[in-house]
Amino acid sequence: MSKFLEFPVIDGHIDTLMSIDKRNFHERSDLGHCDLPRMREGGVNSALFAIYPARTRKNIIQGLDKWLKLVYHSQNELYHIKSIQDFKTVRSKDKIGAILHFEGAGGIDKDLQLLRISYHIGLRTIGLCHANKNKFASGVLFQDRQYETGLSELGRNLVLEAQRLGITIDASHLNDPSFWDLMEVTTRPIIASHSNSRKIANHLRNLTDDQLKAIQEVHGTVGINFGSMFLKNVNPKQQENDLTLNDIKTHIDHIVNVTDINTVAIGTDYDGAKVPNCMKDASYFPKLWQFLLENGYSKGDLAKISHNNLLRVFNDTWKS
Ligand SMILES: [Zn+2]
Repeated sequence: MSKFLEFPVIDGHIDTLMSIDKRNFHERSDLGHCDLPRMREGGVNSALFAIYPARTRKNIIQGLDKWLKLVYHSQNELYHIKSIQDFKTVRSKDKIGAILHFEGAGGIDKDLQLLRISYHIGLRTIGLCHANKNKFASGVLFQDRQYETGLSELGRNLVLEAQRLGITIDASHLNDPSFWDLMEVTTRPIIASHSNSRKIANHLRNLTDDQLKAIQEVHGTVGINFGSMFLKNVNPKQQENDLTLNDIKTHIDHIVNVTDINTVAIGTDYDGAKVPNCMKDASYFPKLWQFLLENGYSKGDLAKISHNNLLRVFNDTWKS
């Protein structure tokens, strides 16, 4: 067993549900980034398996059906995490934990009935929107023109109701006005599950230094996204997949400098983004830990980045 399995990873964002149709999760594949063998090899304890899209009620119902089929298929060795104690159960049963996440809330009705029902099915984290605007919030669009609107009254209600139930709010994909409205209304720590530093890579999906500090103030976390476009302002002549572990470390360094080590987590965006060869799938985590250990990070730091910081937020936001 690799010594790096002492840093079990809680991955704050994977899109595996969306990319699994052409392969079996329990079998090692060359396609995509996550499957059971590769996650085991990388020492992944658990991940937020996103339902995307979640723009309509139909999206959510179909996504839930697909999610439950994947997670409850006995060969997949997954375990549906609903409580903090479940992270330990996953280890003792030698399974991979799956946390139910909605990447966008557009399909939830304004009375929030589907939110409450989904909580009982096991929803534990939610983002308010994706690259769009819905009745709750406005997100960063993948184009030049952006919305100037933030959270609506319905969006503020959703945040409060989700936090009352014990669901963690995810700020990734929010545009700046929505982010700041969220920080005004939140009563709990929040996560930006898969967003990097905008100072290092100038993309609106990444966070400004002020946003990083605001997340630190509420004891939240920022998950390092391995998507090349969020790591570096890539020169069109340069191969995106040539980015190095140092390009990932640069974001970690910056977030630690602006905030502290308690704010950094992991949110790979595996199976949803183009990633560099140095972290080409979930089996590569030990290479990152080795690199960070050799370059100034302690084992205690890595335990925080790999899982303890996210665990702390879940402990502070979930009911049990
Ligand atoms: Zn995303």
